[in-house]
Amino acid sequence: MEPFTAGLLSIEDAQALLLRDISPITDSQTLNINDALGWVTAEPIVSPINVPSFDNSAMDGYALRLADINAKHTLPIAGQAFAGKPYSGSLPDGHVVQIMTGAPVPEGCAAVVMQEQTERTAQGIQLTTDVVTGQNIRRIGEDVRQGQVVLEAGVRLKIKDLPLLASLGIQQIKVIRPLRVAIFSTGDELVSSGTPLSAGQIYDTNRFAIALMLQRLGCSVINLGIIPDDNMALTDAFLRADQQADLVISTGGVSVGAADYTRDVLLACGEITFWKLAMKPGKPFAFGRLRESLFCGLPGNPVSAVVTFCQLVYPLILRLQGITAAPFTSFSAILTAPIIKQPGRTEFQRGYFSSQHGELHVRADDKQGSHMFSTFTHANCFICLPRESGSLAQGDSVTIQPFPDFLDGA
Ligand code: AMP
Ligand code: MG
Repeated sequence: MEPFTAGLLSIEDAQALLLRDISPITDSQTLNINDALGWVTAEPIVSPINVPSFDNSAMDGYALRLADINAKHTLPIAGQAFAGKPYSGSLPDGHVVQIMTGAPVPEGCAAVVMQEQTERTAQGIQLTTDVVTGQNIRRIGEDVRQGQVVLEAGVRLKIKDLPLLASLGIQQIKVIRPLRVAIFSTGDELVSSGTPLSAGQIYDTNRFAIALMLQRLGCSVINLGIIPDDNMALTDAFLRADQQADLVISTGGVSVGAADYTRDVLLACGEITFWKLAMKPGKPFAFGRLRESLFCGLPGNPVSAVVTFCQLVYPLILRLQGITAAPFTSFSAILTAPIIKQPGRTEFQRGYFSSQHGELHVRADDKQGSHMFSTFTHANCFICLPRESGSLAQGDSVTIQPFPDFLDGA
């Protein structure tokens, strides 16, 4: 390991420290399922009904009694059953009911034979195939049983979950109140897009990126704008943020430059747990507590800000939201081009992976500079290279994390 990285905290230790002593939010509110996409369940959701709620037909055909499933003679048709319009009579022995998909199976019937497996005459139907008991009947409760937990507490509601709740007739659910996150960027050079740039100025990428990602994670964003590199202004921003938020995220000003005040101000307004990581990009990353809130100070370089958000802030947000699912999905992939790396820091290079003949292949993006935001457009994953690893050759196996939905989603 290189000597100058020896004092840096490992990413694994940082991730553990970030989650230590964090209590999830427990305040909840009630929401209509129409508005619940992206919110987090506050309690288990229990089905009030069986689904299907009655035995019904999986086919258009004929419902018949057990005694008739092997009948060789013609079976007369006693009536019809439609979806939403059940057969209401009592079925005479030796008869069948013409039944449509989704219609309740008439009492006394043991199977449904597809229309295509019958021949119909004026007198009734003749079976042209063997019929098995229970065939083509969708049973009550076979999808979801009444009283069954369909979603646990602490689940972020996705599009795939919400139709299930609709199918159970559930309208209102209890969700965790949104996490309040105050954000600001620091730097005398920053201007918001829309304003022409003067000499030495750049557009503020980070606040825009972080606000979008937070929104995707169901947070309520308190956007405090751009704060100049000034002790008083920073102190004021921290105090205002602390009063309003559960979590405060700033970017920039955490390194050791002459205008990097964030750390000093933080030491005055709160406490810092750590601020230097063996991670690339993202060496300067501060984590601590203000009076009322938690604090994450992200590096100023936009790629570093997004990478540290994904690797460090995201697991913290999940914990605060009470979500128990693992934050990262990772796979092994084969390098299609070499990677240059010095031992000493865990690297999260941006790469592009694809599936080739049943194997995942990956190559690092050419632009790995921490100021080169276009890398995110060209890439679809992080290539996670362990701290002690050196350069890697084509054909070596690496761990990749597909970009999370909040970065790669629409
Ligand atoms: P700092 O961490 O404040 O020393 O900033 C490191 C680098 O990131 C400098 O080149 C800054 O100009 C740049 N930077 C800082 N904040 C932002 C931001 N919000 N958007 C884009 N670039 C930034
Ligand atoms: Mg700065």
